[in-house]
Amino acid sequence: MAAQETVDHKYVYDFSEGNKDLKDLLGGKGANLAEMTNLGLPVPPGFTITTEACQAYLATGRQPDGLAGQIEAHLESLERAMGKRLGDPRDPLLVSVRSGAKFSMPGMMETVLNVGLNDQSVVGLSAQAGQNDRFAWDSYRRLIQMFGKTVCEVPGEEFEHALDEIKSAKGTHDDLDLDADDLRGLVDAYKKIFSKHTGREFPQQPREQLDLAIRAVFESWNAERAVLYRRQERIPADLGTAVNVVTMVFGNLGPDSGTGVAFTRDPASGAQGIYGDYLANAQGEDVVAGIRNTVPLQELGQLDRASYDELLGIMARLEEHYKDLCDIEFTIERGKLWMLQTRVGKRTAAAAFVIAGQLVDEGLIDLDEALHRVNGAQLAQLMFPRFQLDHEFQPVATGIGASPGAASGAVVFTSARAVELAAEGRSVILVRRETNPDDLNGMIAAKGILTSRGGKTSHAAVVARGMGKTCVSGADDIDVNVPAKRFTVAGQTVSEGDVISIDGTTGKVYLGEVPVMPSEVVQYFEGSLDPEHIDNPLVRAVHRIMTHADGKRRLAVRTNADTGADAARARRFGAEGIGLCRTEHMFLGDRRELVERLILARAPGEREAALAALLPLQRADFEEIFREMDGLPVTVRLIDPPLHEFLPPLEQLAVNVAVAQERGEDVAKEEALLAAVRRMHEENPMLGLRGVRLGLVIPGLFAMQVRAIAEAAVSCARGGGVAKPEIMVPLVGAVQELETVRAEAEKIIAEVVGDSGVEVLIGTMIEVPRAALTAGQIAEAAEFFSFGTNDLTQMGWGFSRDDVEGAFFWRYLELGIFGISPFESIDRDGVGRLVRIAAEEGRAARPGLKLGVCGEHGGDPDSVHFFHEVGLDYVSCSPFRVPVARLEAGRAVVETGGSDSR
Ligand code: PEP
Ligand code: MG
Repeated sequence: MAAQETVDHKYVYDFSEGNKDLKDLLGGKGANLAEMTNLGLPVPPGFTITTEACQAYLATGRQPDGLAGQIEAHLESLERAMGKRLGDPRDPLLVSVRSGAKFSMPGMMETVLNVGLNDQSVVGLSAQAGQNDRFAWDSYRRLIQMFGKTVCEVPGEEFEHALDEIKSAKGTHDDLDLDADDLRGLVDAYKKIFSKHTGREFPQQPREQLDLAIRAVFESWNAERAVLYRRQERIPADLGTAVNVVTMVFGNLGPDSGTGVAFTRDPASGAQGIYGDYLANAQGEDVVAGIRNTVPLQELGQLDRASYDELLGIMARLEEHYKDLCDIEFTIERGKLWMLQTRVGKRTAAAAFVIAGQLVDEGLIDLDEALHRVNGAQLAQLMFPRFQLDHEFQPVATGIGASPGAASGAVVFTSARAVELAAEGRSVILVRRETNPDDLNGMIAAKGILTSRGGKTSHAAVVARGMGKTCVSGADDIDVNVPAKRFTVAGQTVSEGDVISIDGTTGKVYLGEVPVMPSEVVQYFEGSLDPEHIDNPLVRAVHRIMTHADGKRRLAVRTNADTGADAARARRFGAEGIGLCRTEHMFLGDRRELVERLILARAPGEREAALAALLPLQRADFEEIFREMDGLPVTVRLIDPPLHEFLPPLEQLAVNVAVAQERGEDVAKEEALLAAVRRMHEENPMLGLRGVRLGLVIPGLFAMQVRAIAEAAVSCARGGGVAKPEIMVPLVGAVQELETVRAEAEKIIAEVVGDSGVEVLIGTMIEVPRAALTAGQIAEAAEFFSFGTNDLTQMGWGFSRDDVEGAFFWRYLELGIFGISPFESIDRDGVGRLVRIAAEEGRAARPGLKLGVCGEHGGDPDSVHFFHEVGLDYVSCSPFRVPVARLEAGRAVVETGGSDSR
């Protein structure tokens, strides 16, 4: 009789009551078992206890009211359906008790098999299995072992040890050589181990076994490894697991039984076909433990044709039903096939694109759904060259994967040496403690950059990402000694010229040359592979899905580029303009001397002379960029970093001056320089004299840049091109700053542009929190806003962007204070809120205000969705992330259910 307890809340669902959409409640396994049951597939009968029951149990330490009665009722109906009773001495029903959370957490939680066996029912089981004593006692010993370990925390090694002892007494390594008597002896040994550790006998009551097993599965949600896994995979900690109580079926009843796993397509390449493994006369745990070697699934066709054909039929049906690659687990018990699990299978990035394309071809899904099934992180993976790693290569250090890709080359420690060796045609890796703007030439020449300090937004990381160059930053096990031209790591010394390999995706560093494979997807974006005529299913699928994303997206995608070459590449990658041209690198190299004169100017006219000399150089810079971006908007940001960054470092200069003074040399010039560097030294340069502040303090600096931009645009127009410059003022915090710059700029623009037809917009970055909060005022003086989310994050959180990631973010991630660095993915609640306020208030004050983002977040998949939701007009990101942003901008439309089409 079913329990009479009447409690409203439903905690237990029969498999026939659920479906695949109830994963929150029934977990992935339970929901899919229910779905298969409803499809009429052969699923062993059972029921699922909900995640809500688990949550309640974990919150209070006891089962919620009503749960016990509902389990009782479902068990009774299961017993009726099977015509057996749990643990019946003559003909026992046995069940497995399996965890199953919403998100797959493979092997992280517990499962107990063969619940219902005891000293009596083991005899009944043997009779049922055709007097198969061996099988029955083997099942019983497995129960004691799993139950002991899982439910009562008996150390697993003790069971292993007892098993090994029996095997060695028998002179064998194979479990299959143990006969029924051996296993009966093993059960005795296991029971002794159990009572030694628990102080009680192994429970003989089947219901008690079941209840304790259910409780143990609930508790396994908080097992240490499960907690760690969740943190790693960013699975919320409060979901809880469901518990599936399933009628046992046995794959270990003889040669006509067995167990296997299969995929409906190849999860590595996406190729169509049947992929799987089968192990005759075994249970699932034997496959996982790798005790015996499996055979390819196709061989089941020879062993048991009927089951094989039935399985193929079911797999085809599941694919059609789920409209996706499925993976399955099955068992054959004496020629009868049982489905134990299915789910939409995990796959590689390449397979994700290929399968999505195939399913569209097969008419199972439409292109919107195909777009939903892939993501930017997968596309990014496909765009980087990869190492072909084998066991020969072991990493010697691991840093932060700051800019993905794979690069090998000779180690160099200075920018100059990088340039020299690269000119000889050698691949080089530039190794520094950290990089600074002076390293730019070396970074351009190098195949990859390795630093021992700094995080994902350090100079090395940002610049390398901008160039699409591999970079590992913050590999702090590496001790870099630049003057000695060597570094040490793991007790080894690596000198200039030695070859190393760095993986910018994983952050791993290898000694020696690891072979690299180029990316076909990049070749396609570069235009060297024609998608219509290429026999590569991956490239074809990428082309098709990207085309659809472009048709869907509302956000435009621009690029951050400061050179003609970067602009050209980004355009090939689909950029629709430049969202951020940083002008600071234009003040380096052989222009340094002019910049020094500009900064140090004392005599009247000196500064003007330096600016006059810089003007044509800047004009040429902008002409090149406008040419490459002909017809598309180009946002040029006026100079941002503190000027002292363009002068030599203080310590080095002080030493040089002291040494020269000692030698009695004439150091008047150096002393003046030193005095200037001292004067300009700042404790917090990021919060100091930079951006608009610099423009307001150094007369003529911004004016020169504005003139160069306007003149370059006019010269382009005269040459028949279309330049669309947008001048952007950095680090504005108050509208008055912008108004002052604007007033001067407008005069210059009017004077230069005349009747050329060139239109120049003036706008600002929103990267200081005060600017975001006074956006309504600032919009009065700005034709556009571009969110500088790097600085907005830095100043919003008060995190120094160059230091904190390497310093303590690991602890914040460990504690779950955030799941991902806010420099990597926008912090929606805090920094995102500033963006939202500024967007709303800016547009309210100036309808039609153009809004974009140019911080690193512009190329981060999740952040792109946020910027879509907030209603920005465009995102701007480094050239290599342009395709990722295009894809995600399309996905954002599909996922918000929009039919937005540009
Ligand atoms: C920003 O702060 O987000 C930005 C784009 O400017 P930069 O990174 O050059 O400070
Ligand atoms: Mg900034």
